[in-house]
Amino acid sequence: MTNCTECGAPGPACETRFNEFLVLEFTEAGFGAVHHLTVAAFVLQHSSKLSREGWLQMRELLREFLLENKPPAFIRNQNKGIVDRGKRKFKIKSRDALPVIHKNTWTKTILDVPFDDRHTYCSGINEWAMTALKEAEELEV
Ligand SMILES: [Zn+2]
Repeated sequence: MTNCTECGAPGPACETRFNEFLVLEFTEAGFGAVHHLTVAAFVLQHSSKLSREGWLQMRELLREFLLENKPPAFIRNQNKGIVDRGKRKFKIKSRDALPVIHKNTWTKTILDVPFDDRHTYCSGINEWAMTALKEAEELEV
């Protein structure tokens, strides 16, 4: 079994775990609070899902969530404003499925996040997202 070429986790385990986490976040009380972080950190580490502009915007978004403490609703409205004003001219999703960044070793991946209860889950997602952001900010894109 080969490791994920993007986050470095073993085999297809990261994608499977991501899908399991999304289910948890939508079904278990308290888990959904970090949904925006889960998605942002996961796609940041899997840049083939995004265009270059999309990846850069995702990194900025994660910065705003974690370091500027902007709530997701605020950011959503802000982004909606941009879309409404027609200023967003790029596609967020990748057209070619090629990775934007060339990094496949990360200190933490989604597999490092515990999920036995909502408290360890939310702090685990936070730690993973923070580590991913720090490492992503060191990259030249
Ligand atoms: Zn992966």
